[in-house]
This record gives sequence, structure tokens and C-alpha cells, in this order.
Amino acid sequence: MGYNRSMERDIQRVLIPHERIARRVKELAAQITAEHTSPAMNGASEITILPILTGAMIFASDLIRQLPMPMKIGLLAVSSYPGRSLKTQGSGVIAQQVGDLRGRHVLIIDDILDSGGTIRLVRDMLEPMGAASLKACVLLRKPTAGAAMTPVDYVGFDIPDEFVVGYGLDYDDYYRNLPEIVTLKADIMKR
Ligand code: 5GP
Ligand code: MG
Repeated sequence: MGYNRSMERDIQRVLIPHERIARRVKELAAQITAEHTSPAMNGASEITILPILTGAMIFASDLIRQLPMPMKIGLLAVSSYPGRSLKTQGSGVIAQQVGDLRGRHVLIIDDILDSGGTIRLVRDMLEPMGAASLKACVLLRKPTAGAAMTPVDYVGFDIPDEFVVGYGLDYDDYYRNLPEIVTLKADIMKR
């Protein structure tokens, strides 16, 4: 293994090994390329990629290098403020540099679809900005009611409702650099 021994010790289970992620990223890229060059989209091949920081950074960087069309990259940072009830839970866009989206084919990229709050928030913010199309791609999706209420265009993997880290996803900002998607041992999560 190429990573720190203490990170390795914290892993409970490898849910998705790196080779499977790499294969799926290739498939997603092929699907995105086909759909963005189809007659239904007027053969439009130029896109704007909007990765949601920080979790989508690794996924987006691998994905875009498999996309052959001309693209611009914007940035969005969203923070979630977990509340005690569903009503007080929420998230906010804390920084953005998306550029002029008028007439452009926009692809939002996020690491994981859980409650769906992040994707819905970002979509609501981008909708009035005049994009020609607005699609969303997530690497992972959990089987939650919120995710079911939040349709997205591209999904890498449907996973069980467990807390995962790695390949961009963090716990307390750590573990993002793990090459695979893993769960953590219970005693780590309590610390
Ligand atoms: P949503 O807004 O759909 O509830 O959640 C999206 C965000 O919540 C993700 O971008 C991610 O930051 C965080 N999140 C949700 N589930 C997990 C998980 O299992 N592991 C990690 N590391 N983050 C998660
Ligand atoms: Mg996060």
C-alpha cells in the first residue's frame, strides 16, 4: 500500500477498490461524452465543469482527463451545517467562481448524494444563470429518501447507508487521499 500505516490501521473495510473506481470513471466519461455530443444536445461538445469542493476534487480530476471535449472549469464550495432536526439542517454556498454560464452546457460534480441538500442548493443557485443545460454527476449515492427526491444524471455507484471516506471524501478533513472508498473503524469515528 502506498499510504501511511496509521491510515491503513483506521480502515474497517474496503468498499470499492481503486481499480473498480477507475473502470467506472471511464464508463461515466464515455456516457457523458456520448450524451454531450448527441444530436439531442445539438452536437454541443463544449462544457463547463463545476466540481463541488473539497470532496469532488479527486473524482473530478480523474473524470475530466477522460473527457475529450473543450471545457472550462468553475469552482463551488458548499458547507453543510448539520442541525438537530431535518428542518434546521442546511447547507450554504460559501464560495463560487463559476464564470459566465449563459448558453453553456454545465455539469455539476459531487462526491456523494446523501440527503440531496447540496445538489438541490447548487441547482437552485445555478438555474437562473442561463445555462443551455444543467446536469449533475455524483460518484456515490446512498439509499436515502432525500437522494430519491433528488434526480441526478450520472451515478458512479449506489452504496449502503454507511459513512465512507477516501477518494476525496473526508472524516474531519482527513483520509481524502486514500485511493479507495472505505469505511472507518468505529473507535475512530467516536474520537
Ligand atoms: P447531501 O447534501 O446530499 O446530504 O450530502 C452531500 C455531502 O455530505 C457530501 O458532499 C459530503 O461532503 C457529505 N457526506 C454525505 N455522506 C457522506 C459520507 O458517507 N462520507 C463522507 N465523508 N461525507 C459524506
Ligand atoms: Mg464533505
